[in-house]
This record gives sequence, C-alpha cells and structure tokens, in this order.
Amino acid sequence: MNDQLAAVTAICDHYGRDPTRLLDMAREVQAQFGCVPQTAIDGMAAALGMPRVEVESAISFYTFLSIEPRGQIVVRLCDDVIDRLAGVERVAAALEEEAGIGFGQTTPDCQLSLQWTSCIGMSDQAPAALVNDTVVTELTPGRARDMVRALREHGDPQRLVHRLGDGNNAHSLVRAMVMNNIRRPGPVVLSDYKAGEGLRRAVAMSPVEVIRTVKAARLRGRGGAGFPTGLKWEFTRAAAGEQKYVLCNADEGEPGTFKDRVILTEKPELVFEGMAIAGYAIGADKGYVYLRGEYAYLKPFLEDVLSRMRAAGLLGSELCGRSCLSFDIEIRLGAGAYVCGEETALISSLEGRRGDPMTRPPFPAQKGFLGQPSVVNNVETFCCATRIMEMGAPWFSQYGRGDSAGTKLLSISGDCLAPGVYEVPFGISLREVLREAGAEDAGAVQVGGPSGRMVGPQHFDQSISFEELATGGSVMVFSRERDVLEIIRQFMRFFVHESCGYCTPCRVGNTLLLERVERILAGRGEEGDVNYLRSLGDSVRTLSRCGLGQTSPNPILTSLETFPDAYTSRLRPATDGQRPAFDLASALRASEIITGRPSTHFSDQEPRS
Ligand code: SF4
Repeated sequence: MNDQLAAVTAICDHYGRDPTRLLDMAREVQAQFGCVPQTAIDGMAAALGMPRVEVESAISFYTFLSIEPRGQIVVRLCDDVIDRLAGVERVAAALEEEAGIGFGQTTPDCQLSLQWTSCIGMSDQAPAALVNDTVVTELTPGRARDMVRALREHGDPQRLVHRLGDGNNAHSLVRAMVMNNIRRPGPVVLSDYKAGEGLRRAVAMSPVEVIRTVKAARLRGRGGAGFPTGLKWEFTRAAAGEQKYVLCNADEGEPGTFKDRVILTEKPELVFEGMAIAGYAIGADKGYVYLRGEYAYLKPFLEDVLSRMRAAGLLGSELCGRSCLSFDIEIRLGAGAYVCGEETALISSLEGRRGDPMTRPPFPAQKGFLGQPSVVNNVETFCCATRIMEMGAPWFSQYGRGDSAGTKLLSISGDCLAPGVYEVPFGISLREVLREAGAEDAGAVQVGGPSGRMVGPQHFDQSISFEELATGGSVMVFSRERDVLEIIRQFMRFFVHESCGYCTPCRVGNTLLLERVERILAGRGEEGDVNYLRSLGDSVRTLSRCGLGQTSPNPILTSLETFPDAYTSRLRPATDGQRPAFDLASALRASEIITGRPSTHFSDQEPRS
C-alpha cells in the first residue's frame, strides 16, 4: 500500500503537482496499476491539495479511466452505427467466445477486459477496436478470435499490427494499420503548401491586419457551428486578460467523423502553423492541442513534429527569427468523453476537471482556459488560416459559395463504395458527393453526424454549405434496405450514453425519447407517439444547457420530417380496449416471480402462458 502511495506521489511530482495535469497523472497511475484505485485517489488528492471527491469525480467521468480493476489489456470495440452495419455484433460474439467473458467483464487472470466504446474515428475501416492505444481495423469474427489468441500468447497489442497503413501511418513513430483513405485531395488542406510561409507573412503584418485578412477570407469555423473565425480572434484579442491561449479542438468525437485524424496524420504542420498565427493575432504565446484519447497513438509523432518546427524557428522563442515573438504548443490527451468536443467542456477537461460544459456567457473569448481569454478552433479551421495567410484572402474565398467560403473536408462512411476523406468546395451538391463516393442510390444520409440532419433523396440536390447542409464533416450513408428507425435508435442510445447528466431535459429527456423509439420498434407504438416525440424533442432541444442536448433530438425530429413512414407504419390502433403500448407480459412478470408460477393471459388473440 505504501509502495503504491509512493508511486502515485512520484507521478504527481513528475507533473509538478499541477492540478491541470490530473488526467495525465491518472493515465500513468492506470498504466501502472491497471486502474486508479482508491489509495491512488487519496494520494493524488493529498499531493494536489484537492478535495478527494473532486479527484474521484473527475476520474469517474472519463470512459478510458477506471476506478475498478481492469485487465492489463483492454479491448474497446467501437459500437457506432457504421460499425453495426459492418457486422460488429458478430465480431463481439467471437471476442466473447474466444475470451470466455462478456462485454464489461475481465478475465479471471486479469489479462483481458472487453468493453464497448463510442466512435473511435475509424468508420471508413469498420469494424474497428482500440486495444489499449493500438488501433485494429477491418475486424472479422475470425480476426477477432486470432487477436485474442495472439494477445494471450504475447500480450503485446502493438504486435497485432500485421500491416502498416498508408502515408504517415507507416512512420516509425506511428506504426498503425490505419488507412488515410484520401479519396479526393483539395486545394486548401490536402494539398502541397509552403511550410512557414503563412506564419512569416503574418508576423510581417500587424496582428490587426492578420485578423482583417482572415475576416476578408470569410473563414468560418469548421467544427459545425460556423462562427466567423476572424471575429472570434478579434473578440479574444480585445478581451482583458494577463495571458491568452490558443486551443485546438482535436476531439472529433461526432460518430462518423475521422477527417481530423487524417489531417493530424498527414498535415500536422499546417495545424500547428495556424495555431501560431492565431497566437500572434490575439497576443498569446501558448497553445494547447486537446487530442482525443482515441488518437493517443498519434501523440509521439505529433510531439516530434512540434520539435522539428521548434528547430526550424516556426515555434518556440524567437518565432521566425524575431526575438520579441514566441509561441509554443503542448499536446494534452482526452480520455474518452464525447461531450468534451463542446468548447467549454473541452476547457474544463484541459484544466484537469470533469468535462462538464459551462453556461455561456462568458464565452471562452472572454473567460476561457484558466479563466483567461482563449480562442478555441477546430483542426481544419487552423489549416485554413495558414493557407489564407500564405495565399491571401481572395485566393481562399474563390472556392465555395455565398457565406460558405473555401473547402470542406468530409468523412464519408457507411453504404458506399469508396468510404474515406473528400475535400470538396463548399456549394457542391450532396448528390455529386454521393456519386463520387459510389452511393448514388442511397436511401438516407445523415449529414453532420447524429447531432446533424437525416436527409432523403428529395434533399440530395441541396448543397454542402452552412446555409443548406451544414456539417462538421460526418456524412453517413444508408442504403434503401436499412431500417431508418433502427438507425435512430442507435443515435439516441449514443446520446443517452454521452449526456453528462447535468441538466434534466438532456439527462431524462433523451432517455424518454429512446424509450419511445424502442416501444415503436417493438410494435407497441400508438397514434399519439409521433406528437409525443415531436413535443418532447422540441423541449429537449430548447431547454438543454449545451450543444449536446440542444442537438440530440435532431435524429428524431429530422427523420420524422423526412421519413415519417418509418414511424407511422409501425403504429397500431387500440383494439378491444387494449392499448398496444401496454405490455401485459412485463406487467405480470413481478407477480409471476412473487407467486412462483406463470400466468396464462392473451395477447393479440394468442394465448400465452
Ligand atoms: Fe450535460 Fe446534456 Fe446538459 Fe450538455 S445538455 S450540460 S451534455 S446534460
């Protein structure tokens, strides 16, 4: 016990007993002890001078951290809707059979745990899993069995990588079997560029001129909300604060999104240069990349890129050879929480706390990381900023249409011939995108991930743009054979799982929405259910505190508009005074247990006993 406490204290010392590094410390403790045991929580609380309850509360918030013992190797199988279409349930059954345990369990020898997890950013190569930090893609039941056998034999997840992926996935610091699947490179992000040129041009201007250039280019945030980037930078520059920060949101947790993973693999310099430009513009000398825990395998490679940029004078002190300028970047890992993609939750997490969203205002531009003015932008947005400074605002805004200037990276997955990443000009029609991806005959498309919009063929001529079909990047394709309501059920399960639980409309409302969808799927839907879903969905959307709850009913509300038959065709009228929603069998179950004998009753004119 004392040894454990000593080890925990040493870990805290290594991080300078800085409470904002709590997640890093917890990760290291977990790596040593298989979990973050109660003694370790005591030790961390004492070393950091924090109330114990705060430490425990933070650790219990994140899926990748555990207070309960887990196996030395944790297989986290991705259960998003695309993986389900690709047969993940059969893979799961094979894993259970071979490991001899169910999901949520650990083998008696504490070697292996099986867990489900939300989207790990590999929808174009599903079914996929994380084995500790190693990504394993394109699983089949046979490969899943082989994987368990191999892990039993050598216990090394990295040895599961039997082939290397393309591009930097094969880099010696990555060595992942992940594929980039870049199907359509574009002129802005996935293209050649002159490294350092954008930053050199920026520092030759005044910060105000840099902001003016970004505004002239009409750059809007690529995370989905589309807030004008130049305006955000201007607000942050104008805000009072001793220290300002640039935060890169690399927590693309929206199911079906993986384009930031490809950018970080192939164009990390473009992202980091954009952060340095933002730092110069707002008056910050420090930036953080909040990298989702699922992409931990990229961290050593990204750290190496940062070192090389420092050596080239593109980061660190004497930025671009100017002794008065400095800007540096640190990478911090998340630990598996979708809600941390919301900017205030990301800041909470970056500060080492639970990833709870905060009420706005104040906005991060006024009061962000450590209470100081902070710019939070998406990975792709920083890339665009670099190219704008390199090539000029008119060059950038020649691409796109209307208020949607430039290009957009799409992550296309599901029922299509060519899943992968496409960089398209804003304004392109969804139909053309689907044609390129080999999905012209799609029956339904979820644009913008579960929090986005479900559209049908009647919408395919709409454009990918902030004005029509806005998306942070996720485009999930479903063939005409797929059951729309089953897909909606998966999306709602995701939101119920990922809600942080702070506010009642989101915590309870989403559970009630899911229950009603499941009731309709079970053939017990009633006429009033559609109105119930609409009305409750509107309430959840209006009354929830953060973006998660404000968008979580979208799958239901948009599919009710586009595919009403998916609901109405399943509804049943009341017959002989019996409401279809009333489940006689379950209502009798408690009394059957008490009396110890089965009941004989009639349901749908069929006698049951
Ligand atoms: Fe948490 Fe949901 Fe409320 Fe956001 S809307 S604060 S995720 S409970």
